Amino acid sequence: MHPLTSRCRYDLHSHTTASDGLLTPQQLVLRAVEMGISTLAITDHDTTAGLGPARAAIVENQLALTLVDGVEISTLWENHEIHIVGLAIDTRHPALCALLEEQSERRILRAQIIAERLEKARIPGAWEGAARYANGGAITRGHFARFLVEDGRASTIAGVFKSYLAKGKTGYVPPQWCTIKQAIDAIHHSGGVAVLAHPGRYRLSAKWLKRLLADFAAARGDAMEVAQCQQAPHERSQLAQLARQYHLLASQGSDFHQSCPWIELGRNLRLPDDLTPVWSAWESSASVEERGA
Ligand code: AMP
Ligand code: MN
Ligand code: MN
Ligand code: MN
Repeated sequence: MHPLTSRCRYDLHSHTTASDGLLTPQQLVLRAVEMGISTLAITDHDTTAGLGPARAAIVENQLALTLVDGVEISTLWENHEIHIVGLAIDTRHPALCALLEEQSERRILRAQIIAERLEKARIPGAWEGAARYANGGAITRGHFARFLVEDGRASTIAGVFKSYLAKGKTGYVPPQWCTIKQAIDAIHHSGGVAVLAHPGRYRLSAKWLKRLLADFAAARGDAMEVAQCQQAPHERSQLAQLARQYHLLASQGSDFHQSCPWIELGRNLRLPDDLTPVWSAWESSASVEERGA
């Protein structure tokens, strides 16, 4: 096991009510400590609004938790929605702020069109419903999904995605996200590390996944998520192999939105020993030595 992994528990992908997570930033940091996490990245969709309240809660409750400033940026690549996580970013950097501002406008515009399309399909009230769930945070399809379940359109979130919100369905609107390169550049300008999120979740063939990784690496992407909680051992091995092949640092994260039987902060997150963990990019060698690694 990597020396850092043995002593610290990292979860570098999580959501709060600033986007489509169910816990407030305050509740999330408390839960992270309960789950034995020592370093948590909050990575809300196209917003950093949860980080300030999370940091305040850490101070107020004197929590032994390191918070990594993060964000998950939606991009468009070859007609696929690809998510790029930025870690250890400077949330005030103008280039990053400008990009997130544009993304937020795109989110609102897309949400309005989703609502119009649902309205035409005789599902009224979707805008108000989704906005109520977003409650001032970044609006996502996840909020529409909650409204549609509440409205009795299907019994589960997965069910409404399948019937209404997935590509090609009534409520699907092709998004206008930024490119992978624009997301990576903004993350780098702000001093952060760019991570390809959940590479196994894009339903890409092996050939296309390699194409994505080659493009991501060529755009100077730094890392890819290798360990997630809901993952078969062979999937993790395959991703680890790709990290080696494309010389990418390795990240781990639960993509926590709410706790459920198979997803929990810090659950089942472990990287193969030989990979270089992404946190080596921002943790200085001095602090590694201090920990006796
Ligand atoms: P958006 O960024 O607005 O496209 O919303 C994407 C979010 O919707 C993801 O981050 C997930 O939280 C959620 N989501 C996407 N697909 C599914 C699905 N099949 N089942 C449940 N949640 C999903
Ligand atoms: Mn989400
Ligand atoms: Mn994602
Ligand atoms: Mn996520």
